[in-house]
Amino acid sequence: MKTRRSATRTSSTKSQSPVRPRRSANKPKAGTQDTKYPDIRRDLERQRAAILNDVGEVLTHRDGLAAFPDVSDQASAEVDQNFSMRIRDRERKLLKKIGEALERMDAATYGICERCGGDIPYKRLKARPVTTLCIECKTLQEQEEQARG
Ligand SMILES: [Zn+2]
Repeated sequence: MKTRRSATRTSSTKSQSPVRPRRSANKPKAGTQDTKYPDIRRDLERQRAAILNDVGEVLTHRDGLAAFPDVSDQASAEVDQNFSMRIRDRERKLLKKIGEALERMDAATYGICERCGGDIPYKRLKARPVTTLCIECKTLQEQEEQARG
């Protein structure tokens, strides 16, 4: 096998632009600053735990059905499937929203209206911690939805 490396220096690799390190990303560092909403974060975490706990109970109760010792792998796959089917749609959506809200907290974008970029009043966040819209925008959105259909 010929493994002769040609010594011709391929200086035609100029097309590769140098990777320019992006300096000064304007993102605030997550975690450097305590969230503005520690109690809402707690609410969200508690709510999430409660939902997961509910769901967990479904699982725990099913342990009583594990009377078939030789189907472990297959059974657990089926359990997974049942499990996700048993999480009601509403809960799944809520869990997702809670997760997103917590992510926004980490990214320090929590409490900012998605639509107008304004601050969502604390009272509204407290009442509806997963919201992403201020009341004005929410109202507008609802009006649009009604108008649409
Ligand atoms: Zn808004």
